[in-house]
Amino acid sequence: MSAAGIDIELFRKKLMEQRDALRDVADSSREAAQTVELDQTRVGRVSRMDALQAQAMAKESNRRREVALQRIQNAIRRIDEGEYGYCTACAEPIAADRLEVEPGALLCIECAGKAEQNP
Ligand SMILES: [Zn+2]
Repeated sequence: MSAAGIDIELFRKKLMEQRDALRDVADSSREAAQTVELDQTRVGRVSRMDALQAQAMAKESNRRREVALQRIQNAIRRIDEGEYGYCTACAEPIAADRLEVEPGALLCIECAGKAEQNP
């Protein structure tokens, strides 16, 4: 148990599972992107535009996944450093039920609310 009153090993396990799942998706979407490139060489203009649109969407979801992966890796590092479960802005413990929902959360609910109002 950490000072924040949560079972840190459980969260470490959760975070590692999320990280592995994100990595799996990243691998399979890379394969999908390569398939699109192959198809482009032998399809017409309209399909090519569809393919480009699909590629742009894939790029965007890749970017989001990358951000999520970074957060999770950060959280795992924070567990190792004994900082996990504390708000990075005000250093107060983050509520356990908040971490339950979002194990990669870096801010307590108050600071997250403030950050949303003034990004
Ligand atoms: Zn805070």
